[in-house]
Amino acid sequence: MAYEPIWAADASKLNKMELVKLEKDGLDIIRTIIEKYAHEGYSSITPDDMNLFKWAGVYEQKPKNGHFMMRVRINSGVLTTDQARALAGIAKDYGRNLMDVTTRQAIQFHWLTVEQLPDIFNRLEKVGLYSWEACGDCPRTIVGNPLAGIDKNELFDTTDLVNQVNDFFLLNRDFSNLPRKYKMSISTNIYNSAHAEIQCLAFTPASKVIDGEEVLGFHVWVGGGLSAKPHLAKRLDLFARPEEVLKVATGVTTIFRDFGYREKRHHARLKFLVADWGPEKFKEKLIELIGDMPSLGEDKIIGWNAAYFNGVHPQKQDGLSYIGLNIPVGRLSGDEFAELARVADTYGDGTIRTTVSQDIVISGVMNELVEKALTESVFERLTPNPNLFMSRTVSCTGNEFCNLAVVETKERARRVAEYLDSKIELDEDIRIHFIGCPNACGQKHIADIGLQGALVKTPEGMVDAFDIAVGGILGPGAKFNETLKGRVKGEDVGAVLEQLILYYKDNRSEDETFHQF
Ligand code: SF4
Repeated sequence: MAYEPIWAADASKLNKMELVKLEKDGLDIIRTIIEKYAHEGYSSITPDDMNLFKWAGVYEQKPKNGHFMMRVRINSGVLTTDQARALAGIAKDYGRNLMDVTTRQAIQFHWLTVEQLPDIFNRLEKVGLYSWEACGDCPRTIVGNPLAGIDKNELFDTTDLVNQVNDFFLLNRDFSNLPRKYKMSISTNIYNSAHAEIQCLAFTPASKVIDGEEVLGFHVWVGGGLSAKPHLAKRLDLFARPEEVLKVATGVTTIFRDFGYREKRHHARLKFLVADWGPEKFKEKLIELIGDMPSLGEDKIIGWNAAYFNGVHPQKQDGLSYIGLNIPVGRLSGDEFAELARVADTYGDGTIRTTVSQDIVISGVMNELVEKALTESVFERLTPNPNLFMSRTVSCTGNEFCNLAVVETKERARRVAEYLDSKIELDEDIRIHFIGCPNACGQKHIADIGLQGALVKTPEGMVDAFDIAVGGILGPGAKFNETLKGRVKGEDVGAVLEQLILYYKDNRSEDETFHQF
């Protein structure tokens, strides 16, 4: 039986999108696309239905002339090579051979038309992949440890748990109408490779002695998120055993659904409810829903690797290695993706793993085959040994395709990284993130140097510009970066960052890192 939407009692407290969602559940759009719009075409799509396309994982692309972008959710970023080939095929047949790895380990296509969507949905479903709810006011892709199952630095393998939680929420109409987007992560990587503090709900590695025995499990964090008002998630005073993760996730999501704010779209994310309630009240409500839980155990996160795995590294399995590749600003062609699938089959365990740093890992390569594998030509551009700045530059989609963008980001980010690599030699990594608007898909706030697009008035008219912020970090001591005074014209970003980094290099004290700069 369907749940009662208790928030719907007073329509005067609902924003316009809430009224649309009450008329039609977002998930219903999937059938409407297949049965109606794919036949009747772009011009037949109503504005309300266009808003619901996100539940199918599909957004209208810029300019609004009949093309769409699509996100495909990938649990923890782990794909089989059959799945990878299906994705590459969609890019080649429908997406102008273009693929983006997103900061939620998803794959994004561009240039799709509504007529093509049913075949794309079919192709995905055949290999067990879905774009459903990769966008929209619902539980999105569950981010996880891309090295799940092979990671020397994880407490235990979280693959099955992520799949279990994903399978519960995917297409579940009890949770397909949340106040706003809802982001979860589950990882036991001790270097926080799933960026726990910026999720609505995060499970992080922990242990606790219960009845004299050490139990491995999770701490639970709620209310993180970026955009114009960024919040770091708050840790709840509880410990969850692996078998309790789904129960906790269901409880937290229920609280968000029933008590989250639906009056203003920009004040609807779970982070606002958590900030108002505080973690103690939030925990009380959760316990009321799911029953008592043990209190905090020992936190097992000891640092933050920002989800970078470039190079060749040993796996937890003896004799096997993984190869971490740089995908410049997350963009590659369908041909390259298909080639990576071939290489993963030839030398590895038939798995391709996407990371929240917009990169890719090939796993399960026998140590004696690593040298030969590295001679493959696809590794010339998608290299395990990238230049310093290219290896740490992340970018959102920007105004090439995104309707919300103020400025161009992706190609600019690539050019800036290339420029800095040509100008600066440095013995430490500096992470640079570009975003094209305050929505922060490129996670500007957690970067060493974060750049947010804006426009400035010049005698020649309005031009692209960026606000620059420095000092973001997650893990122990997590904090968002701070915006510097002034705004830099887009064409000057490379030169200004060059000056900034060289100033740091010339003036840093011994043992100082850029985070303390
Ligand atoms: Fe678009 Fe803004 Fe997100 Fe960039 S940060 S992809 S410009 S919504």
